[in-house]
Amino acid sequence: MDKFINNYIEGFMGSVVSRNPGEKEFHQAVREVVESVAPFMMDYPNLMDQKILERIVEPERIIIFRVPWMDDRGEIQINRGFRVQASSAIGPYKGGIRFHPSVNLSIMKFLAFEQTFKNALTTLPMGGAKGGSDFNPRGKSDAEVMRFCQSFMTELFRHIGPNTDVPAGDIGVGGREIGFLFGQYKRLRDEFSGTLTGKGIAWGGSLLRPEATGYGLCYFAEQMLATRGESFEGKKVNISGAGNVAQYAAQKAMRLGAKVQTLSDSDGFIYDPEGLNEEKMAFVFQLKNIRRGRIKEYVQKYPQAQYFPGERPWRIPCDIALPCATQNEVEVADAENIVKGGAICLAEGANMPTTPEAIKIIQGAGLLYSPGKASNAGGVATSGLEMSQNSMRTSWTAEEVDQYLRRIMSDIHAACVKYGTREDGTVNYVKGANIAGFIKVAGAMADQGLV
Ligand code: NDP
Repeated sequence: MDKFINNYIEGFMGSVVSRNPGEKEFHQAVREVVESVAPFMMDYPNLMDQKILERIVEPERIIIFRVPWMDDRGEIQINRGFRVQASSAIGPYKGGIRFHPSVNLSIMKFLAFEQTFKNALTTLPMGGAKGGSDFNPRGKSDAEVMRFCQSFMTELFRHIGPNTDVPAGDIGVGGREIGFLFGQYKRLRDEFSGTLTGKGIAWGGSLLRPEATGYGLCYFAEQMLATRGESFEGKKVNISGAGNVAQYAAQKAMRLGAKVQTLSDSDGFIYDPEGLNEEKMAFVFQLKNIRRGRIKEYVQKYPQAQYFPGERPWRIPCDIALPCATQNEVEVADAENIVKGGAICLAEGANMPTTPEAIKIIQGAGLLYSPGKASNAGGVATSGLEMSQNSMRTSWTAEEVDQYLRRIMSDIHAACVKYGTREDGTVNYVKGANIAGFIKVAGAMADQGLV
């Protein structure tokens, strides 16, 4: 049977690779899901007959467009825009927009594919999508970012809507960018609707949406730790990234009693042996979100900390690793360092931050390990709550949203335990998350006929 399943997986992946040449991130994301769900599917021949998996790996629609804009010197710039609408099986397409020079079709497709399963796990009715551009907001003026966002939305607006596709933020797209995108959408459509999430509180945003991914990550990790009678209390935590997810993961981990030792950006990382506190966090919020500075400036303000240019934080020993920057940022050598440093848990805040080979090392050493599609789902879940509040024309208190968020993260954890518990009682969160997400999407597809 194992041989049969392996042949099926390799045959399936062969066809995915040849139909989508060169898209290595997409292949990586598909393989992870197929390896989890193929053994499960063998018991459901109707899913095989209906070619559910073959359909899920083919996005429902991909839009690629030109984004021309003018910089502050009056020079014309051209970027490329994307929206990958992967699946509308269980609700309107939903997923973030990323502005980063590395954005390409493979990265958009992997993110949209992952989003489909993640959104299914949240228990909310949301399909999967992702979008973005190779535009680099770093070093751009507010006026340049606004002109770019307006040009991007001038094409995107015709493909999205509150019941069609509801984008949100991601790398390089925060409150400022969502504001510019929303303003242009409203102007073109002549409609004030909940088409984007991550909006400002005064104009339809949800309390706790900025915090949700980082907080949700810590709530999920808390549940993982509890399966071994552990908690954040007194633990050393290493975090990568210094953006939205990293900042609020750091704040929550700290408030749960952990010592947060590191933050990073693409230039290097800072190590503060005394750990972050509320005052230091306030400095980081100001530095990153208002001044848009670099993380190395932390050591000018707090000289007991050290800055390591060109490095990632994983060689500093820790108990809990929370990668919150980008895909494939934990490679084999990093995973070996994390294990050697005595860690007990790695929970992903970013999407697919750990390479497949590194995951094997982490799992092989017996660490608790969760994939981003489970542990970072708090962000999109709270976007779903923002959509509900917009539809009801109401707004909930931070406590109400936090309660929903905690419950959703707990439900996702329970789903992972249900489908991922191994014979020895430990949990394979990758398998659990993939099967739980797949069951929901596959069931909806089977019900809706050949579409
Ligand atoms: P931000 O843009 O706010 O922050 C990203 C951080 O990661 C920055 O510190 C950035 O550094 C760093 N980074 C980006 N690319 C690289 C790279 N190639 N190498 C090293 N560091 C890098 O993004 P978010 O915090 O929103 O997103 C972080 C991750 O979390 C992404 O994987 C995203 O898909 C995922 N995610 C985000 C959600 C959200 O709600 N925002 C929800 C679920 C997942 P620099 O400034 O140098 O670029």
